[in-house]
Amino acid sequence: FTVLAIESSADDTCAAVVTSDRQILSNVVVRQDSFHESYGGIHPYIAIEAHQQNMPGAVQKALQVAGMSATDVDGIAFTRGPGIGGCLSVGSNAAKTLAAALNKPLVGVHHMQAHALTPFLTTPANSLPTYPFLTLLVSGGHTLLLLATSPRAFRVLATTLDESIGRAFDKVSRMLALPWSAHGPGAALEQFCRDGPAGGTGAPGGEEIGSGEPAEAPHIPLPMRGRLAFSYTGLHSSVERFLHARGGVVDARTKHAIATTFQKNAVGQLEEKLALGLQLCRRKGIQIRHVVVSGGVASNSYLRERLRICLDEASPDEHIALIFPPPSLCTDNAVMIAWASMHRFLAGDTDDYTVELRRKWSIEELDPSAPAILD
Ligand code: ATP
Ligand code: FE
Repeated sequence: FTVLAIESSADDTCAAVVTSDRQILSNVVVRQDSFHESYGGIHPYIAIEAHQQNMPGAVQKALQVAGMSATDVDGIAFTRGPGIGGCLSVGSNAAKTLAAALNKPLVGVHHMQAHALTPFLTTPANSLPTYPFLTLLVSGGHTLLLLATSPRAFRVLATTLDESIGRAFDKVSRMLALPWSAHGPGAALEQFCRDGPAGGTGAPGGEEIGSGEPAEAPHIPLPMRGRLAFSYTGLHSSVERFLHARGGVVDARTKHAIATTFQKNAVGQLEEKLALGLQLCRRKGIQIRHVVVSGGVASNSYLRERLRICLDEASPDEHIALIFPPPSLCTDNAVMIAWASMHRFLAGDTDDYTVELRRKWSIEELDPSAPAILD
C-alpha cells in the first residue's frame, strides 16, 4: 500500500511517499524558518502564505522523486491537527481535493501520534519498540511524557504547565543572537554549546579561551522537582534577567556558559520526569522495555547522551532500550504522517472527504477507552 502524505501544521511544508513495507520513496521538506526569525516565532499569516506557495511544488516533487504519478498512489494522508488552523487548512484542502479527484481513500492524522510512531518505520525490524512503552515528545509545541499501550492509545503522564522545551530553546538562542543554522535556532544553540565560544576553533569542549575564572552563568533552579509536570518559562526568563542585569552585553565565554547551563537544565528536567515516569509504571506493575523519544528537540545529541545515562541510572537492572528516529525525521516531515496513517488504511478505517480539522486535539482522544494511569 502506497501513501502520499502532506504535513503543514507549523512552518514547514512537507510531502512524502511511503509504502506499507517501510520504504520511504520520497521526503520533501520546504523550510521557511528565515521568514520568522525577525518576528521571534512562527508568524501565522506568513506561514499560511508560504504553505500556499510551496504546497503544489512539494507534492509534485514528492511524486517525482518517488517515480510515480498521483494515480499510482493508494491513499492520501494529511495532518488533521493539532497545529495552526490556517496552516493545517492548506494541507487538508490539498489532501482532500487530491483524494476526491483521484477517488482515493483519505486519512487525517494526529501530528503527535505521528512523531511517536516514527521509530516503527526507522528502527530495524528486530529491535522495534514493544507496547507498553514510554514516549517523550519534545517539540516546538509540546513537551509530553506519555504511556503508549497501542498505536492509538496514549495516556499523558506529564505535560508542560506553560511553554514547550522547543520554544525555550528557540527563545534562548535568539536572546544570545547565535549564528543562523539551517536547522533552526534550537539546533544553533546545540551547535554553539558543542563548538564553544571560539566557534569550534578552540580546545575540545571549547571552554578555554584565555584562562582564569570560569565564566559566570545564571542560576536556574529545577522547577517542579518531584512532580510529573514540566515548566520551561522560568528557564528562559532566568536567562533574560541575567542578560538584562548586564545591559544585554556579555562576552563569548559568558554566552557559552549561559547556553550550556540552559541546555543542561532544559534536558535535566526531561531526565527527572522520565525517571519519575518509570517509577510510576513500576508501582503500577507496568513493565517498560522501551523509551521512544521524538519531536524536533530529540535531534539534540546532548539530550540523546543524557537520556541514555538517565535510563541506566534509573533502572540499572533492566536494560531499557532508548529509541530515537534519525534527527532528520525528528523535526516535522510528511514521512511520519504517511506512516501513522498506514495502520488505518490497512484496516479500511478511513475518513470522509468532509473530515474537519482539530487545531487543539489531545492525543488521549485517539482512544478514549484506554485505561487512565494517573489517579
Ligand atoms: P509540534 O510538533 O509540537 O507541533 P513543531 O512541529 O513546530 O511542534 P518540531 O518540528 O517537531 O516542532 O520541532 C521543532 C522544535 O525543535 C523547535 O523548537 C526547534 O528549536 C527544536 N529543535 C530542533 N533541533 C534542535 C536541536 N538540535 N536542539 C534543540 N532543539 C531543537
Ligand atoms: Fe512537530
